[in-house]
Amino acid sequence: MRSHTILNPQSSILNPRSIASGKAMLLIPCPYCGERAESEFSPGGEAHIERPAHPQAVSDQQWGEYLYFRANLKGGQLERWFHAYGCRRWFNVARDSVTHEIKAVYKMGEPPPEIAR
Ligand SMILES: [Zn+2]
Repeated sequence: MRSHTILNPQSSILNPRSIASGKAMLLIPCPYCGERAESEFSPGGEAHIERPAHPQAVSDQQWGEYLYFRANLKGGQLERWFHAYGCRRWFNVARDSVTHEIKAVYKMGEPPPEIAR
């Protein structure tokens, strides 16, 4: 069963300008706990990075790309986040890296929702 949470465009942030000035905090909707302050979470980088099935069979370059190379997109991207000061679970976030808008959250192992593609 999928449990994607598609968000209202304005629900995940208070105001982008006030975030930039440090006067407001990003709210992240954990799929297990609900909306919490960003300070409770740790970012885990790009989502959906797959470890090679047979590490011994890949070249040094392929292994290096798996370990270190990330898309780091400007705009919409899929990220892993950890609710460090909450349920201590990992989950995925579809987020705009420019505006900080969170478009959707979904549990590990689930495919990204259509809105995030
Ligand atoms: Zn949580």
